[in-house]
Amino acid sequence: MEQQGVLEIPGLDDQDIAILLNARNYAYYCDMIKQIQSKKCPFCQLDPEKNRVIHTSGDWRIWECPEAFKAKHIAKHFVLAPKRHITHTNCMTDKDWFHCTVLLDWATNGEIGINLPGGGIIMRFGHPDLNAQSIRHLHCNIMVPDGTGEVKITLAKDPKKVTQKRVVVLIFERLRGLGISPNDPEIDDRAQYVLAPSEYFLVKDYLS
Ligand SMILES: [Zn+2]
Repeated sequence: MEQQGVLEIPGLDDQDIAILLNARNYAYYCDMIKQIQSKKCPFCQLDPEKNRVIHTSGDWRIWECPEAFKAKHIAKHFVLAPKRHITHTNCMTDKDWFHCTVLLDWATNGEIGINLPGGGIIMRFGHPDLNAQSIRHLHCNIMVPDGTGEVKITLAKDPKKVTQKRVVVLIFERLRGLGISPNDPEIDDRAQYVLAPSEYFLVKDYLS
């Protein structure tokens, strides 16, 4: 493996670096670094350009996951979360459970909201080592696969895969250091130009 070394990014501690390993693609990785460095929780301060809230109940809100951050083979992905920053279900009050349920009902019941035909509801909670999450603010994901490939929900990663992902993230960091934007329409060509073929092979599926 040509990429060895320790990932160090100014302003990020070990826990932040561990969370970066859960970034599902290069765009998400760059966004996570920006957010961590700015010390702002992305779900406490939603970016209305990226996350357009489509419905609310009490202080809970639901929005559609931006296209760039969606996993592969996913047709629909909604996120619902409370406005206040909590990280564990044991911080949820009766009201929280009520409003969370109202939004889940809204997302899946055509009579009152949108009529998702099927899919999964996933809520990770607590320590990030135990749920492979990428954002610590407690939230639910509602995901509908598009039928074109396998979709898995990960709560813990194979240690071998973590080691592999660390190599991928080191290459991401090099691309970021070279100023290559995840939104560049020629990102594939640029990555091929600056990376060794073996490195490009490792990241090509995560670039766009
Ligand atoms: Zn938050």
